[in-house]
Amino acid sequence: MEYKVNKKVSIFSILVISILSTSFSASVMAASDDSLTVYSTRKEHLIKPLFDAFTNKTGIKVKYLTGKGGALIERIKLEGKRTKADLFMTVDAGNLWYAATQNLFQPVNSETIKNNIPNHLRDPANLWTGLSVRARTIIYSTDRVSPDELSTYQDLANQQWKGRLCLRTSKKVYTKSLVSSLIHHDGLEKTTEVVRGWVDNLAATPHAEDVHIMTSILAGQCDVGIVNSYYFGRMQAEEPNVALKLFWANQDSTGTHVNISGAGVTKHSKNPEDAIKLLEFLSSVEAQKIYVGLNKEYPASQKIKADNLIALWGDFNQDKMNLSVAGKNQADSVSLMQREGYK
Ligand code: FE
Repeated sequence: MEYKVNKKVSIFSILVISILSTSFSASVMAASDDSLTVYSTRKEHLIKPLFDAFTNKTGIKVKYLTGKGGALIERIKLEGKRTKADLFMTVDAGNLWYAATQNLFQPVNSETIKNNIPNHLRDPANLWTGLSVRARTIIYSTDRVSPDELSTYQDLANQQWKGRLCLRTSKKVYTKSLVSSLIHHDGLEKTTEVVRGWVDNLAATPHAEDVHIMTSILAGQCDVGIVNSYYFGRMQAEEPNVALKLFWANQDSTGTHVNISGAGVTKHSKNPEDAIKLLEFLSSVEAQKIYVGLNKEYPASQKIKADNLIALWGDFNQDKMNLSVAGKNQADSVSLMQREGYK
């Protein structure tokens, strides 16, 4: 971890900063100027090309600090009015929603963003917006499963999948958001039955990473799982003939659960005007093209097409549930999964 310690930093702050264990771009601690600072849970290689394009276009420099979501949120809260952060950027609507409940953001009423990004991918109070989309859907072994056997997330709770299912841990926000969407569509009681069935059908203890779900299917430990589309995209880019395929879940009902990476302008931004410019830029066709090229994600803007590789997976209907619901139902989702022994 590298950062410059200025004399005013108290021992307490040093301790807190150490505990937060974020990685800093060294320039962040420099005296403030008219550049923007972004705190991001997305890694450098996924954000730098976007900021470079923005700087080329506007002349406004962008500094950034990357770290874990919980630590960055605590940091912004702790820094209060003195924060350098103009934008907070993270993945998953559940995390954006949580940041909003911690009073991190200010509302941004931008016609540009409203025109570029569909409603369900934005906070109803305009505190944050989605900037890229990932589908969380079914993945299956092309050796042992035929796509006619697949239909919905709920169906993976049926007997047919006993001992054949791999899932990600319930501690991951991706799982919480998916279960939140099921609660939204089906209610608590039915979702409880579904989660119970999933747990019964597990071939292995829930995995810590989506990638492990895919490697477990390839190793024959399980036949089906649920993953974020870009993890499959990355694997397929390396190994075009991998014996796995995505199946678009719930096409005859609610649509496939999607989630976002996104951002909002911080409440105490010193430069909200330029911060809004950056957020608007990130929603633009120019930036959306960069987004989809970087991480095998879908554009949040419907004005451009998906990257070549992921376009080959075919079109699908997205669940149009407003993604703020992923946050609102999160507590219910967590306690439901705990009750049913979903680890
Ligand atoms: Fe991820």
